[in-house]
Amino acid sequence: MFISLENMRKSLGRTKNNFKKIKKIFPVDVAHEVDRKLDRLQKTTQDFEQKISFRHINQYKKYEDKIIPFKLYFGVTNVCNAKCIFCAYKTAEHKKGIMSFEIFKKGVDEYISMGGKWIALTPTVGDPLIDPGLFDKIKYAKKHSQIKQIHFTTNAILFTNAKKYKKTIDSGITHVYLSMGDLDKETYIKVYGVDLYEKAILGIYHLLKYNKETGEQVIINIGLRTSKKPSETLASEDFNKYIKPFLSKKVTYSFTPYFDNFGGMIKQEHLIGDMKLGRGNKIKTTPCVKTFEAMILFDGSVRLCACRLKKTEFDELVIGNINKNTLKEIFFGENAKKVRERFVQNNLAPVCKGCSLYRPVKKSWLKRRIKEQKQ
Ligand code: SF4
Ligand code: SF4
Repeated sequence: MFISLENMRKSLGRTKNNFKKIKKIFPVDVAHEVDRKLDRLQKTTQDFEQKISFRHINQYKKYEDKIIPFKLYFGVTNVCNAKCIFCAYKTAEHKKGIMSFEIFKKGVDEYISMGGKWIALTPTVGDPLIDPGLFDKIKYAKKHSQIKQIHFTTNAILFTNAKKYKKTIDSGITHVYLSMGDLDKETYIKVYGVDLYEKAILGIYHLLKYNKETGEQVIINIGLRTSKKPSETLASEDFNKYIKPFLSKKVTYSFTPYFDNFGGMIKQEHLIGDMKLGRGNKIKTTPCVKTFEAMILFDGSVRLCACRLKKTEFDELVIGNINKNTLKEIFFGENAKKVRERFVQNNLAPVCKGCSLYRPVKKSWLKRRIKEQKQ
């Protein structure tokens, strides 16, 4: 039974258009609840599967030297201009900076030589538009026909500055993911922690409008991290004025069913209104799929998992630095293997211990990744 439930969850699409598909069947608020229930169901299923399938635990080792990062993330900067209540940025204690073009170039070149096709200029925490060299980096990546997709996620606050929205659409980027709060000033300030609502909503408006005027070159999703019910957001004046007119097959929106806890740093009491914290897996004896992804941090450090940090991104998931070794040496090296081994040995890195984004790697997932790499 649990396998078919897992497949059901998968067929609904986990992160991209999950909500979009469910809301074709249910009213929007009910769809949001169904999305939440499916998320919980998935965790329960995963726990149960891990409990009964010890024989699968070490299967990943056969594939460890074959799988390259499906996407390579670049933490072009770990500086942000917001202080969201659902994010660990405001309490992060790490050194801050902006990635040099040289580090970016080395990362892209070495990723391409490994067979990589997809890059993301999205830091774990930080806003890519703060990087003054962002568009030079996109331009460089775009020059390589091997790179098929380029994307970043932004809170849109800086889109109105120096016409960054135009540069984004004209840059050749393939996808932009927008992170936006409630569509009223007062609640936005409560959730995003900064008095910049007008900038964010106008930034989104300019980007969507220019994208439409130029033939919808870029696929855009507006991820609404709201504290109100979806129906309230969709009925709001600003949604109807600044977002709705531009929705299409390529321009979509989604709601966040659950907020992650950033390794235990974010708690339910930090959230407001209808925001709910996700339930974490109770069992984590199989390596997380995210340990097969990597991020290059602004100083060249290579870290497994581009998803979450606890107090710092310079933690136990850092496996090397591309200023000292090649990306290939690092990604297939002993340090990466040790991070995955920690799951099997029940000696999790602190950030993984309480993380609600954990997803156990499965044989079917590993095989699919190998197949995708060959395409
Ligand atoms: S969620 Fe994004 S926009 Fe908000 S503080 Fe974190 S990094 Fe910044
Ligand atoms: S458990 Fe969380 S922090 Fe650890 S690798 Fe998975 S997603 Fe990343």
